[in-house]
Amino acid sequence: MTERGLLIVLSGPSGVGKGTVRKAIFEDDAVDFRYSISATTRKPRPGEENGKDYFFVSREEFEDKIQAGDMLEYAEYVGNYYGTPRSFIEETLASGRDVFLEIDVQGALQVKAKMPEGVYIFLTPPDIKNLRQRLIGRGTDSAEVIEKRVAAARDELKKMINYNYAVENDVVAHAVDRIKAIITAERLRVSRV
Ligand code: 5GP
Repeated sequence: MTERGLLIVLSGPSGVGKGTVRKAIFEDDAVDFRYSISATTRKPRPGEENGKDYFFVSREEFEDKIQAGDMLEYAEYVGNYYGTPRSFIEETLASGRDVFLEIDVQGALQVKAKMPEGVYIFLTPPDIKNLRQRLIGRGTDSAEVIEKRVAAARDELKKMINYNYAVENDVVAHAVDRIKAIITAERLRVSRV
């Protein structure tokens, strides 16, 4: 029987830099886990590609997928749906390959309730002021949306205790190294010799 792959979930407040850290992890050719592409009803930002960054779908399509049970988890965040397609995760884990999810805190806790054997990593900002600066610097959201994201982040930081690991995103390259070390250690821990 093929051994099941490892489920790795990177989560944390919006604006903490999850996307940047995730992209840096996948730039390494030695990385052999698969990235789970989320579905969203948010509009693509400049440079984002359908089927690469996200599956960009309409609200109606997303709601159909929820009804059909096709979402492992989903969350509504600042007026848009975001969700993890179930079949990719199940098939990839069953084939023995590891899967990496980068999702928000609401979603990660839903996945943890269903798949507690996963590795749950919380990426934390050095402080909340820094988080607001990052969102402003990204230049993609209005002042109103930024304040909503900061308020959401305050609540989300309280959920850190539910994760297996916390990683501070002070310097991206350092956060990447810490996450890779966690994954290497967890793989070894769960491997059967
Ligand atoms: P953004 O609009 O900046 O791409 O993403 C907003 C938030 O949604 C981020 O915190 C991101 O990690 C999260 N997110 C992305 N994909 C998913 C998903 O499939 N499920 C959930 N629950 N959150 C997601």
